[in-house]
Amino acid sequence: MSEAVRPRLVIMGRQGAGKGTQCELLSAHYGIDHLSTGDVLRAAVAEGSELGVKAKGFMDAGDLVPDELITDIVASRVGGEHAAAGFLLDGFPRNVGQAEALVAMMEPAGLHACVNLDVEESVVRERMMARGREDDTPEAIDRRLELYAQETAPLFDFFDNRGLLLVCDGFGEVEDISARLIASIDQAIAGS
Ligand code: ADP
Repeated sequence: MSEAVRPRLVIMGRQGAGKGTQCELLSAHYGIDHLSTGDVLRAAVAEGSELGVKAKGFMDAGDLVPDELITDIVASRVGGEHAAAGFLLDGFPRNVGQAEALVAMMEPAGLHACVNLDVEESVVRERMMARGREDDTPEAIDRRLELYAQETAPLFDFFDNRGLLLVCDGFGEVEDISARLIASIDQAIAGS
């Protein structure tokens, strides 16, 4: 890959698919920022900011926060002049409305790819139970997986229809998965 290319990437995958780990490796490899909307929201809750106060109840229940709470934040971090620096967007978009907003805010630069880090539901359920995050109650896990299937999975077609979808098997050793992701992203960038 030429050094000049700073990819603009979306990473998708079920909760617990290992996105956090892979995002760290990918952002270091490509020299791009990793923007996790879950991290942004958790930091807001910890600070007790207005955003955090509004978001907390939705997050504790495993629900999505309303689009208007998160979309402008993403636009201010990846849109306009930020596009040239590249980015790895994790946790956004989560539904078709957010995906449409993303495509609009990326004009005219466009995205390079949307990667689905694919791991079976039974595997991610066990991983989430084991990691013990505060919002990982069994009810919230069920709710998040249900919402993923209903709201987020339709985005695979959305990105596929735009020629942007890459699917990577997320089961296996961290280094192998990372190598697969990088190979597939490099190929997409070369062809874009
Ligand atoms: P997980 O992938 O386990 O759901 P995240 O860190 O991505 O964890 O998100 C945690 C919570 O933050 C979500 O359950 C949801 O309430 C909220 N959230 C994160 N990103 C978004 C988004 N793009 N739209 C709406 N809510 C979001």
